[in-house]
Amino acid sequence: MTGGASGIGRATVEAYCENDASVVVGDVDAEAGEAVVDEIADAGGEATFVETDVSEEADVERLVATAVERYGGLDVVFNNAGTEGALADFADYEGADFDDVVGVNLRGAFYGMKHGIRAMLEDGGGSIINTSSVASATGIMGRAGYSASKAGINGMTRAAAMEYARDGIRVNAVLPGIVATSMQDRVAVQRPDATDRYEIEEAMPGRADPRELANVVLFLGSDLASRVTGVCLPVEGGFLVQP
Ligand code: NAD
Repeated sequence: MTGGASGIGRATVEAYCENDASVVVGDVDAEAGEAVVDEIADAGGEATFVETDVSEEADVERLVATAVERYGGLDVVFNNAGTEGALADFADYEGADFDDVVGVNLRGAFYGMKHGIRAMLEDGGGSIINTSSVASATGIMGRAGYSASKAGINGMTRAAAMEYARDGIRVNAVLPGIVATSMQDRVAVQRPDATDRYEIEEAMPGRADPRELANVVLFLGSDLASRVTGVCLPVEGGFLVQP
């Protein structure tokens, strides 16, 4: 599980551990990641932290190998690590900033899928869940690279679902709207014009609790979703269905 030190990822680590899963948490933020694992241990759960930069393939490979070696296999992969990247309109958006955000959000998810799938092929299948965004399905302002990365995640999700359905590997994505996390706090401060409107326009007003996303990830990772694959599922309080 990547990006597990904060926000949606952290809530998902907690949700899985409450349901007796053993979780390997990967994140660039070692201090926060270790704190999450300590908290899980204090509550009687089982989790391991591996410092991971998802834009580095060797890091992601090591993360997956840790899960296989320590816990005997890999049932669920949650590719969730992400960054909002630069907050600028297209005319002012630097190419290097575009590469940075795509490197983390899109290439990072690709590495997680690639190495997760390799492990699952050895082990009779599993469930992969990628964190996309409403930015993949509608226009949001100030985030060229972010929008591109999240639309790319939807494409990879559908393609991998086709490739591996017969190997027992399901691949789905969740599309959060506005969730109460540190990422959303940063965007709201730097680009209020790009967030105020969305918070108001969610059919369910306000921000989602990260746990509301974690619950859907829990479902998609479970046998309750045994027939669900290739789906890019909005979890956004009705934002996308509005006129
Ligand atoms: P967050 O900032 O609270 O958490 C993101 C986590 O990813 C952090 O722990 C961070 O350290 C980690 N991370 C960043 N770059 C990394 C890298 N290169 N390698 C490994 N870890 C890295 O934000 P969040 O809102 O919980 O974001 C989680 C996911 O949800 C992201 O993919 C984000 O794009 C997506 N999302 C969030 C919202 C929202 O409203 N918060 C909306 C749509 C999509």
